[in-house]
Amino acid sequence: MKTSIHLENKITSKPSRYGLKYHIKTFGCQMNEHDSEKIAGMFQKDGMIKSNEIDNSDVLFINTCTIRENADDKLYGTLGQLKKWKDENPNRKLLVGGCAAQKDKYLVRERAPWVDVVLGTHNTNDIINLLNQSEDWGPVTEILEETTNIESETSPVRESSINAFVTIQIGCNNSCTFCIVPSVRGVEISRRPSDIVNEIERLSHEGVKEITLLGQNVNSYGRDLMINNKRRPYFTELLYKIHDIEGIERIRFTSPHPKDFKEETLIAVSELPKVVNQIHIPLQSGSNKILSAMHRGYNQKRFIEKIDMIKSIITDASISTDIIVGFPGESHIDFEETMKVVNYAEFDLIYMFKFSPRPGTVASDYQDKFVKKDIIDDRFMSLKNRQTEISEFRYARFVGSTQKMLIEKPSKKDERILTGRIEGGHIVNLESNKYGIGDLVNVKIVDSTPFFLKATA
Ligand code: SF4
Repeated sequence: MKTSIHLENKITSKPSRYGLKYHIKTFGCQMNEHDSEKIAGMFQKDGMIKSNEIDNSDVLFINTCTIRENADDKLYGTLGQLKKWKDENPNRKLLVGGCAAQKDKYLVRERAPWVDVVLGTHNTNDIINLLNQSEDWGPVTEILEETTNIESETSPVRESSINAFVTIQIGCNNSCTFCIVPSVRGVEISRRPSDIVNEIERLSHEGVKEITLLGQNVNSYGRDLMINNKRRPYFTELLYKIHDIEGIERIRFTSPHPKDFKEETLIAVSELPKVVNQIHIPLQSGSNKILSAMHRGYNQKRFIEKIDMIKSIITDASISTDIIVGFPGESHIDFEETMKVVNYAEFDLIYMFKFSPRPGTVASDYQDKFVKKDIIDDRFMSLKNRQTEISEFRYARFVGSTQKMLIEKPSKKDERILTGRIEGGHIVNLESNKYGIGDLVNVKIVDSTPFFLKATA
C-alpha cells in the first residue's frame, strides 16, 4: 500500500545529468552503506561524477538512519544547514532517503520544504525517476509501504574493489522492541538464489575476492520463497552454491539471528573452506528478563547452547556479538547475567551499545524503566574493560602462527604498512613491500594487541 503520491508515469527517457557532480552522505549500518553504493551506481549510470565534497556537488543524497535517540534532531539540523547550500545555487538538488525518511514521511517535507526529493527505503531503485519528476514538477515525496522491486537494474559503485556487500534479503519478520527495522524496512523479502549467484559471478569477474552476504536475519533467508516446491530457510544451500563460484576466495555473512541458527549451517561453515570461521551471533543481553522485554525469542540457556554448538562444530571459531547496555529495566543482577555469558563465551569482539531510545520503537515508550545515564556509563566501562582482557588473550592465540591474510589497503597512518584481515575477521598490519592490494597471502603473526595483529610476510 502506498501512502503518498503515486507516480504512474515513469519518465525514463529524460536526458541524463551528464557531468554533474554527486555526493552521498550515509548514516547508519552496512545495509545503508550498501544502499548508498547502489544509489551511486544509479547516479553514475545517469552520467554524474562522484564528488568527495558537499560544497562541490550539484546533487546531494542524504541516506538517513534512526539509530540514535537524537538522530531526528541531527537530521533536521543537517537539513537546516543545507538550506544555505541550496540557496547558493537553486539548480542544486537535495534528496533525502533511508530509514528516518521512511519513518517521518511527510514530516521531512514539512520541516525542510527546500528538499527536492524525499523517498523511503522501499523505492530507492526509483531515485532517478523521482529526480526527473522533481525537475519537471517541483519537490516530490514518495514513500511506499512495501518493496515492489528488490532488484536494481544498475550495478552498485562499490567502495572497495576487493570486498563487496551482496544483499540477499531485506526487511525483518521479528519485532525486537529496541529496533526500528521492521517498521521502516518491512517484512523479510529474499532475493532469488539465481539473482544472488549471478551478481556474485559478475563480481568475481570484476576481481572481487571477498563477499559479505547481507541481511537483517540471513539465516532465515529463503523462507518466503518457494524453492523446490518448499518454503523453508535456504541459507545453507545458498552457501554451498556460492562456494562453487570461481574466483571468490572468502565468504562472510551478517547478521544471523541466534534463534534461527541451525546445526546444518554451522556444518556448512566447517565444510566449506571459503566460508570464514567467523560467526557473529548477537546476544544483546544475558538476562532472561531483559531478553524477554526485548522480544528476542531466546533465553540465556538457549544462547549458550548455540555458543557450545558453534564451538563444537567449527574449529577455532572467532565469535563476535552485539550487546546493549542499560536496556530499560536492566538491574545490576541483569547486567551480571550479561557478564556471565561474556565470560563463558569469550567473544573475540563485542560491538557494545549504550541503550538510547530510538524514536518509533516500542522500547522508547518504556520511560518509567529507563536506567540512569551514569549507571549505564559504569556498566559500559565494566563490559569494555572485561572484553579488552578477553580480546587480549583471544588475539594473542595467533602469535607465532601462520594465517591467510587478504590485503585490503595501505594503512592510513603509514603507507608502508598494508592492512587486511585474516579468516576470523581480525585486522592485521603487515610490513611488506612484496605484496599488493587484493593479494591473499600467508603471513606470520608476530605480535598482538586486543584490537589488531601484527605480521610479517
Ligand atoms: S532481528 Fe530484531 S534487531 Fe534484528 S533487524 Fe529484526 S527486529 Fe531488528
